[in-house]
Amino acid sequence: MLPLFEAFPRLIDRVSHVPIGGFPTPVIPLRRLGDILGMDGLYLKHDGSSGEVYGGNKVRKLEFILGDALRKRKKSVLTFGYAGSNHALATSIYAEKLGFKSTSILLEQPNARYVGKNLLMGHAHHARLRHFRSSASACLPVMLTLASHLIRQGRLPYIVPPGGSSRIGVLGYVNAAFELRNQVEAGLLPKPDRIFVALGTMGTAVGLALGLKAAGMSTTVDCVRVTDRTYADEKKFTRLFAGTAEWIARMDPSFPPIEPEPTNTRFHHDFFGEQYAQFTEQGMNAVRLLKESEGIDLEGTYTGKAMAALIDRAASGDPNHSVVLFWNTYNAVDFSRHIDSYDYRRLPKKFHAYFESDAQPLDR
Ligand SMILES: *Cc1c(COP(=O)(O)O)cnc(C)c1O
Repeated sequence: MLPLFEAFPRLIDRVSHVPIGGFPTPVIPLRRLGDILGMDGLYLKHDGSSGEVYGGNKVRKLEFILGDALRKRKKSVLTFGYAGSNHALATSIYAEKLGFKSTSILLEQPNARYVGKNLLMGHAHHARLRHFRSSASACLPVMLTLASHLIRQGRLPYIVPPGGSSRIGVLGYVNAAFELRNQVEAGLLPKPDRIFVALGTMGTAVGLALGLKAAGMSTTVDCVRVTDRTYADEKKFTRLFAGTAEWIARMDPSFPPIEPEPTNTRFHHDFFGEQYAQFTEQGMNAVRLLKESEGIDLEGTYTGKAMAALIDRAASGDPNHSVVLFWNTYNAVDFSRHIDSYDYRRLPKKFHAYFESDAQPLDR
């Protein structure tokens, strides 16, 4: 049974959950990297291997989101992201698996090699992909897409918000905190003092912060912002945190009362760089260091920046005598064999530029 349901059995009838991933995900001690950084207890929570076909942090959210879509008897799902969105890809893959049609509305972003790969993989899983120049111009296309759904299918699709960071999606990471508590109790790692995690649409960090509180763990969440403040800031974090806590407590009154202000978070704004998905020197150095020391892959948009924050804090001596857990949110499943012989010209024309122009300099 899900650790969250074990703790709060009344939620079983209140929220829908569909098992699409593989849990619990492993905890890996990072001894070599810990030695290099002069840290006593450094661990990695490997959500990269949360799914067989495709892993990463979106799988935990989708177990609740697609569960909800199934319960509502939806036939199709519609979601949003940037062109290389891991979230849109995960949604396409698991929606198809469960028999939904899926559409992704994708915004322009800086080019990187993973963008083309994710687009091909989404297309190979029969997602309808639509490209838009900027978020300002996306409103009308969203309306048109919805209207065309209504006309063709007579019903609206299930709308999955960007990053899957609805309250329902956040439940995936509230559950993850209880999963972590079980692993601590089983002796796989000492209770972490701090968790470093990338902050994108915030669902992951909000769920962890809330779940840790509810699980009675005094761990702090170090949120490393990797998106624009439009998507991620302290105020929006608090709103999602408090809203989700209240919603869960309404469904199960045995959920502990939680102050609306999260008191177990720290925000790091200095590792974002110039813009979303624009890699930074510091981030790419962090990617290289983890690869060379531990053989684990990160990437430049999210996890490299989060690891850069951890390394920077370690250099200043801040968390060195604490138990620190790096939460790896990046897919670790190699899906290249599914797309090796896939011709990008099968994609809508507006996406071809990602294949015909160079990746950004730090990604070459
Ligand atoms: C989406 C994503 C994140 C950000 O998670 P949020 O819940 O949106 O904050 C972090 N890392 C990777 C690899 C992602 O794909």
